[in-house]
Amino acid sequence: MNQQYVNRLMSTITTWARVNSPWAIHFNSGSCNGCDIEILATLTPRYDVERFGIKLRGSPRHADVLVCTGPVTRQARERLLRVYEQMPEPKFVVAVGSCGISGGVFQGCYNIAGHINEVLPVDAFIPGCPPRPEAIIDGIVKLLGHIQNGTHPAIAIEVGLQEAA
Ligand code: SF4
Repeated sequence: MNQQYVNRLMSTITTWARVNSPWAIHFNSGSCNGCDIEILATLTPRYDVERFGIKLRGSPRHADVLVCTGPVTRQARERLLRVYEQMPEPKFVVAVGSCGISGGVFQGCYNIAGHINEVLPVDAFIPGCPPRPEAIIDGIVKLLGHIQNGTHPAIAIEVGLQEAA
């Protein structure tokens, strides 16, 4: 077996494992909690996001995907960066909700440092106020598709606006 073949095999196996068992960490950087409730709903038996192997973890050191809600407040900015830096590579960021994408209703507030993409490189944007659990699951599954096809990180994805409305 030559080294090139071994490297390719290892890369295929790690991508397969990553796509079939993405572990996520949830961070509220200033949300009103509406989006967070919808994220929690994805974990309930009704939506059962674990069927895709997606598991919520408490430590950034165990997480592949950072699911972030809300605009980024000045107070949360450093903490958000610290959580992101603690995650192992390769890592992916999903912005959930209009506030995470543009600042939403909090845009221009004195205590807002910006939206998520102004602080971290976002890989998937899930619009809505708040997005429904179906839209959140769809966004994460689409991100996994991009990871599998090797099209990440050049392509950031968006879930259909009408789905999330
Ligand atoms: S998008 Fe809507 S539900 Fe989500 S944090 Fe902003 S205001 Fe709250």
